[in-house]
Amino acid sequence: MEKKVRVRFAPSPTGPLHIGGVRTALYNYLFAKKHGGDFILRVEDTDQTRYVKGAEDYIIEALNWCGITPNEGIGAGGEFGPYRQSERKEQGTYKKYVDQLIASGNAYYAFDTPSELEEMRERLKQTGSSSQSYDMNSRDTMKNSLTLSPEEVQHKIAAGEPYVVRVKIPRNEEVKFKDIIRGYVVVDSVNLDDKVLYKSDGMPTYHMANVVDDYLMKITHVIRGEEWLPSGPLHVLLYKFLGWENEMPEFAHLPLILKPNGNGKLSKRDGDAGGFPVFPIEWKSPEGEISSGYRESGYFPEAHINMLAFLGWNPGTEQEIFSMEELVEAFTLERVGKSGAKFDPDKTKWFNEQYLRKKSNEELAELIKPADGKYSAELLTRVCGLMKERVSFPKEIMEQGNYFFEAPKTYDQKTVNKKWKENSPQIVADLVTVFANTEFTAEALETAFKAYVEEKELGFGTPMIAIRLAITGVGGGPSLFEIMEVIGKEESINRLKAGIKNIKKEEVA
Ligand code: GLU
Repeated sequence: MEKKVRVRFAPSPTGPLHIGGVRTALYNYLFAKKHGGDFILRVEDTDQTRYVKGAEDYIIEALNWCGITPNEGIGAGGEFGPYRQSERKEQGTYKKYVDQLIASGNAYYAFDTPSELEEMRERLKQTGSSSQSYDMNSRDTMKNSLTLSPEEVQHKIAAGEPYVVRVKIPRNEEVKFKDIIRGYVVVDSVNLDDKVLYKSDGMPTYHMANVVDDYLMKITHVIRGEEWLPSGPLHVLLYKFLGWENEMPEFAHLPLILKPNGNGKLSKRDGDAGGFPVFPIEWKSPEGEISSGYRESGYFPEAHINMLAFLGWNPGTEQEIFSMEELVEAFTLERVGKSGAKFDPDKTKWFNEQYLRKKSNEELAELIKPADGKYSAELLTRVCGLMKERVSFPKEIMEQGNYFFEAPKTYDQKTVNKKWKENSPQIVADLVTVFANTEFTAEALETAFKAYVEEKELGFGTPMIAIRLAITGVGGGPSLFEIMEVIGKEESINRLKAGIKNIKKEEVA
């Protein structure tokens, strides 16, 4: 029988989740759902120095907003808990595997102090060594259980001297593993260093906890960002050392999300400079600094997800709009690219526009209605119908369609200077009379307007923009006659009269 697919998203609560992290979660989720598997949320909080208050809650809320719901793990429960590594540490989950590695000779105690480590690096630099790491070459010169006698080691531990446990990377070994996205990755062990796996305070490091938990939680596929690719060989070695080779998950390292110009990884600074968020929801740091989020900027979660899905994956067809269900259906890791995916702020907006247009006018009206209830649902619904093709975000309906609710207080001066002609006041005055005797439906208004311009032998341009300016204050927008129908006869006539009085070209010096 095929093994049940089990994948995990394993963020560290060191701050808000970048959209790259959301994409990792999304691909894990899609992969799990596609294969009828489990999607697990595990919190990797072993590095207490980098712990940020509120980050875990942020991650949960962000995933929730995106509709990426774990069916196991933090917030969902399950048989493989606890799902927070600090709690697993409390239960002694990692210690026995560290001991096993030491007993089998694949790990060793090291007692070097920070200054001794610094000295080592200095020395290696002086001698022109290409590597300054603690590794198969330098370890023989250091204070560890490979160089000290067993008695000395016992003595130091009993005396409570701080230590770390390091992996003992073998010499001359080719470490090879298959990455679903990148093919075979082969690394010569000479390029690996003796990473710390465990500290005397009982805390495992990321590598140790990550591998042990993936094994204990029966993870079948590790899908994570490219920045973890260099850790792959060490993880593969740990599986081997612990005798778990047959349970080793498959790996898939996702491409980076790049800056819009393609030069390097997308960062918060790019978002600040380009005016777009790089976080799913707003983040307020413990110091009170606010970073904008997609949710607060008016993005629909479906649009955000759709956009993220395409940063690194494509379906191989022309289709661009995908619901979560459709993504589950279409997604494969084989169609995820190797090279970085450029973030495109315009395309991001475009996705939102598509989803906004797909919403019914009623749904949109519900979204934009002011809390004080001062406008009827009917009015808001009509406004949404007229505005939704012209905006990227729901809130822009109210901002740009402000004239549906109140008379313009100013007139766009640029348009006035260009389009308000000498005869414009007269034309508007004539049309006041025409419209006063017209039924206030868009159709009747348009017919009456056309009859007037034909009779006067005027082009459409000047009269049309003149009444638009008077009614809305701006030069563009949805059908003018529809707008007039919505705001009604009395208000329209009043605005036209006010326009005659108040619209003035700027004097050119
Ligand atoms: N805790 C790691 C992170 O913050 C997890 C990496 C992995 O998925 O192995 O991204």
